[in-house]
Amino acid sequence: VFGNGDSTSYRGHTRPFAFPQPGHTITRVDGRVLCRYPDCRKCAASPEFAPIHFDCFVIFRQQCSVSASAALNRLWILAAWRNPWRGAQPIYLSVPVVDKDTLKRISGFCGLPRLYTLPLELLEIIRQYSRHSLLWRCIPALQLADYVSAMKPEPLLTVPLRELLFWERSGKFERVIASRPPLQTLRLTVNSAGISKVERLPGPPTYVGECTSRSAFIVQDEASISKVVAQLKDGRLRLNLPISLRTLPIWNTPAPPSLNLCKAYPADLASCQTIYTVEMDQIRGITFFFSSGQLFGIHIHRSEESYAMDTFSRNFPNRLRRTVVWIYLPISQYDRIFVLGIREALQSRDLNVLVRTELIGDIVIGLQSKGDVKDRCLAASAPVTMIYSEPREGRPVRFFGAHCRPPLDQALPKPFRLEKPGSCPIDDDAYFSWAPLCGVSSTLVFYDQNTGFCRGILFRYQNGGSRAVGQCRLHVDPAESVDRPVRLCFRTSSCPSRWNRTRHMVQVKFKQGARTNHTEKDIEGWEARPMKGLVKYWFTTESSFLVVES
Ligand SMILES: [Zn+2]
Repeated sequence: VFGNGDSTSYRGHTRPFAFPQPGHTITRVDGRVLCRYPDCRKCAASPEFAPIHFDCFVIFRQQCSVSASAALNRLWILAAWRNPWRGAQPIYLSVPVVDKDTLKRISGFCGLPRLYTLPLELLEIIRQYSRHSLLWRCIPALQLADYVSAMKPEPLLTVPLRELLFWERSGKFERVIASRPPLQTLRLTVNSAGISKVERLPGPPTYVGECTSRSAFIVQDEASISKVVAQLKDGRLRLNLPISLRTLPIWNTPAPPSLNLCKAYPADLASCQTIYTVEMDQIRGITFFFSSGQLFGIHIHRSEESYAMDTFSRNFPNRLRRTVVWIYLPISQYDRIFVLGIREALQSRDLNVLVRTELIGDIVIGLQSKGDVKDRCLAASAPVTMIYSEPREGRPVRFFGAHCRPPLDQALPKPFRLEKPGSCPIDDDAYFSWAPLCGVSSTLVFYDQNTGFCRGILFRYQNGGSRAVGQCRLHVDPAESVDRPVRLCFRTSSCPSRWNRTRHMVQVKFKQGARTNHTEKDIEGWEARPMKGLVKYWFTTESSFLVVES
């Protein structure tokens, strides 16, 4: 659907079309070019569009009990104004739980009459595996039709944001009174339906580590939003930013940390919209997505079940997916991170993430760096609060840092070195990781589902720490766990690949049972090593290579 010149009312809708990949395209729909080029100037001059699944749209129209034009006018505000302002990047919030009453209504006619009787936990698991199916999309479509049929439309009202004292969705708003100067800090709350609340605070709130995925927050002092206009219609509110203001920072915390107390690299905050704070003591791990040595995405594992595929699918258009490696940083509940840093290769500008934990020691995440490097300390005492920006689809992360406790200008504690990787045995641009083999309490080997070769290994240690090598794609690739292994058996092979390269592959099995010192290759090419020394693991998107060093 698309709107009028200032996006305050419905103007029309197009025929259905396949949602385009980012970038330029020549596909036309009803005479219009489907363009998803970031910050495209031509698009900025065209009417605003809001994408709606065609089948959801049909259900919505059938179920609305008001006239078609009334339904479409109300739909426009609800759909387009979910964005807090025109051109805002998508804000990824957790989806609301399944509404059982609506599910009951539809489970009859979709042939699953008893589906709604399942407990919510089971329904959520089923939905996790079929998130985009019409069954689940149908629920909000019906809810929206009910809402639109019952609502009373309200006329458009335009107010400078600085004149708002208080506003809540579907409620009245209070205007600033000239005789009483208002509090100077504004906080806007955003949820999955758009801006839900505007309130005033006496000053910038103090960050206390509260993070949420259900809402997002914009906290600004009045002077910084003096030219921003609020549009109000049908119980909703949306901002109109002046041309001089490209975006406003949106946080996952109601009390964002002061940027004066943040150290970051890269630190291009002006181009960032959504910024996340992460209390590293409260999470189970992080998946870093790298492409060509650059950090392209971050997925936070808040629970053991967390699944990085959602972040991967939304961050990477198809053409980039083949170039991305997943590097997992496990954070054991018994361990504690107390150093976070960045290593930059001065020639290639490749970035490594540096982490030091109490139980595991130093971890370097990224390409094996060549030549001179520059290390930057982002945080050097626990608990570490990591801060990063949501990258634009297909672009690198533009802000990566930490909220620091004084003193601010700490150097990286020495020594922060890579466990001597030695020269890289595979293609020159390989990622490197390592793990000690002694004190291992269990291993989890991740396999490529198609080839059976090893992608990565997660080690858990007797001291409670945890370390990963290669690509450990939790809940994505099949994995095999072994408790108290005594031997590491592996077999390497290689084959020619594209552009005259060689693809290296390794099979890995951990064995329990009798100890052996046999290290020669057996007749099938398998080698066995006792659980001693160090495993070094080089990898690219298609290759894996491991060496055991005693
Ligand atoms: Zn365009």
